[in-house]
Amino acid sequence: MGGTEQKFVQEAFDTNWVAPLGPNVSGFEDDLQNFLGEGSQIAALSSGTAALHLGLIILDVQPGDEVICQTFTFSASANPIKYLGATPVFIDSEIDSWNMCPIALEEAIVDRISKGKKPKAIIPVHLYGMPAKMDEIIAISKKYDIAILEDSAESLGSTYKGQKCGTFGEMAALSFNGNKIITTSGGGALVTRELAEKNQAVFLATQARDQAPHYQHSQVGYNYRMSNICAGIGRGQMEVLEAHIALRRDMNEFYKNYFKDIDGVRVFSEPSEDFYSNHWLSAIVLDPVKCSGKTSTDLRLYLDGHNIESRPLWKPMHLQPIFAGVPYYGSKVAEKLFENGLCMPSGSNLTDADRDRITLALNDFFLN
Ligand SMILES: *Cc1c(COP(=O)(O)O)cnc(C)c1O
Repeated sequence: MGGTEQKFVQEAFDTNWVAPLGPNVSGFEDDLQNFLGEGSQIAALSSGTAALHLGLIILDVQPGDEVICQTFTFSASANPIKYLGATPVFIDSEIDSWNMCPIALEEAIVDRISKGKKPKAIIPVHLYGMPAKMDEIIAISKKYDIAILEDSAESLGSTYKGQKCGTFGEMAALSFNGNKIITTSGGGALVTRELAEKNQAVFLATQARDQAPHYQHSQVGYNYRMSNICAGIGRGQMEVLEAHIALRRDMNEFYKNYFKDIDGVRVFSEPSEDFYSNHWLSAIVLDPVKCSGKTSTDLRLYLDGHNIESRPLWKPMHLQPIFAGVPYYGSKVAEKLFENGLCMPSGSNLTDADRDRITLALNDFFLN
């Protein structure tokens, strides 16, 4: 927390705006709109998952439709496809950004069309804060006229060619869950290009009430709006977003420095000047052959023994039991990342003492 969150929450109590609407909700939406720019419209919602769900509804995804999704991601990117009775089509990563591979994407679209079904939407993810190769992905989406719904849950503040993640697609989802770069305890937002789409998202998120003095509904509604209390936390967090990004990027520098002399370890870094990552999480990939047989699992367990938490990278969706049998296009890039990668301690609140502890443990593991 940055410190001013409680002021906004207190205001909500003082003015009795304790509801899923109010000045903090509008204020937080304005803050996000100003931050993202590019004419973005924001609907503040109860979660990033809700944002993806409403985004797909607004893109008219129907039961039986197919939706393309990056395989290397958190399950929340793909679950909303299932909520709608649609089928995900999973796409492998490319090795530079670890995100949706444009070549596999086009191959999948061509193949799905040849099988008689044109996908309804494309969900690329900016994983761990790293922007996807948006130029190539947008070119393909235009060529085949398929809308992009960006999963920008992990990438608030990241940019690709100077443009902020979350402003490339027809729509984008943001998350303010407790573990994200800024948090509202739980929350999310749908970013749209058009005010009409924002209004539609808010309408659906507040039980889809028709214009009438009584309660009348001609569409299925949801209870997905953000609470004015949570939005108060969000307004305070917006004041520390840039500081959080600087701290996370600093952690990434720390790992780059540490591992520069260790041959078998690659720190996940921006592939070129076009990419600017908020480095929400810093990750490494370990080559067991060059690390005298030591694996990422060995390292994780070793760190765990020193009370230092690290985690495997996301397990690809096409390997998940709930998505068994769904179409997948690619060449095992994500699978290999999952096998050899590790997310390192990356929090915005790590101290010098924490870093020293990490350094000592890594020294013990790699140099002995
Ligand atoms: C966190 C996350 C989500 C879901 O956001 P919630 O606010 O937790 O519902 C979706 N996609 C990715 C990639 C995420 O990391």
